[in-house]
Amino acid sequence: MTKENPTDNILPGAKKTFKGLSTLSVHAGEARQKHGDAITDAIFCTSTYTFRNTQEVIDFVAEKRPREEYARYGNPSEKVAERKLAALEGGQSALLFSSGMAATTGLLQAKLATGDEIILVDECYHRTRQFCQEHLGKFGVGTKLVGAGDYEAMESAITPKTKILFTELPTNPHLSVLDLERFVEIARKHDLETVVDATLGTPYNIRPLDFGVDYVMHSATKYLSGHNDVLCGVIIGSTDKVEVVRDLRGITGPSSGPHNVYLLLRGLKTFELRMQRHNENGLAMAEFLSQHKRVERVLYPGLPSHPSHATAKRTMRGFGGVVTFFVKDADWRQTADVIDAVAIPRIGPSLGGVESIIEQSIMVSYHDFTTEQRRALGITDNMIRLSCGIENSEDLIEDIDGALRKTG
Ligand code: PLP
Repeated sequence: MTKENPTDNILPGAKKTFKGLSTLSVHAGEARQKHGDAITDAIFCTSTYTFRNTQEVIDFVAEKRPREEYARYGNPSEKVAERKLAALEGGQSALLFSSGMAATTGLLQAKLATGDEIILVDECYHRTRQFCQEHLGKFGVGTKLVGAGDYEAMESAITPKTKILFTELPTNPHLSVLDLERFVEIARKHDLETVVDATLGTPYNIRPLDFGVDYVMHSATKYLSGHNDVLCGVIIGSTDKVEVVRDLRGITGPSSGPHNVYLLLRGLKTFELRMQRHNENGLAMAEFLSQHKRVERVLYPGLPSHPSHATAKRTMRGFGGVVTFFVKDADWRQTADVIDAVAIPRIGPSLGGVESIIEQSIMVSYHDFTTEQRRALGITDNMIRLSCGIENSEDLIEDIDGALRKTG
């Protein structure tokens, strides 16, 4: 199995270290002169990599020369994307997966064993909760849920069996922002590892590794690839920690695939520019909706009314494109009418792409939950999640305003 080459520079050949996010997202991890002298990285459609002779096999096994062997273990352009993502997050190593869920499940399966426990913030992505409670439970791994921002509950939930603290940042759809300094302090006191699913945060807005978090994870399907055209996931951390997960991925096989890697690499080139627009559009939309007479409440960490605002303001550079709001005095049908009246955002799940996407949470992400389960999670009939894309803010606001007025 090919290991990361520790001598790879972030910008190979460069005499100085560049830190600008766009410089890194455009160039980091790439060779200056590439296959076929192309400026872009190639798509390697191959299941296997061949050796010239037996001596090459011997040298490869002795790790004398980094190269690929078999597609389940890696692909040259996947390595480029991994180096680029590690550079963006300020981590040593990254590991790509076929989806965000493959990244989360791959990491947790590599790190947890029978008898261990994991503590999850209860606002985490519902499939993450489901995986821990239903699937890991079958293998004797216990899961405890604690409220977002309830640090006392988090600390009291820790037992000698606890191995991992896991949160999302911001959470989805409530957009709570945990104080990573406190999160890491609790973990260190009890000798636990920490995982932050920073899909909604992105390395533009916050870099959890800078706070001492052990692993940052992303559904790269969202802002990192950014074009609603690819499913992809990644974990990033120190090389010794990530390599354990890489070994398991080599056995189970959820690697990303050459075409998906190409789309991710292409999407990453404009990462910083897109994030600036997502942040601007999210904030403008949240401020507009918070003054709207048909809106009961808006959840957006950039608004002073959000319970996590102070933490978000202190630790984040911007607050992203996702805005959650509640239509005033509306039942599920009146809320659905607002969704059906919009012209720009598409109706569906997912977020973080150039196209705005809108969903009534009970209809899309939480359709298979009971009323009691939804109530416990704060998912109400009049809740709308809007992922602002990169369209022009005035048009998006005019569209949402029009839908609210038309149906009010
Ligand atoms: N984490 C968060 C915060 C998400 O929103 C999602 C997907 O919606 C995932 C993880 C899972 O990612 P994927 O859909 O790429 O498997």
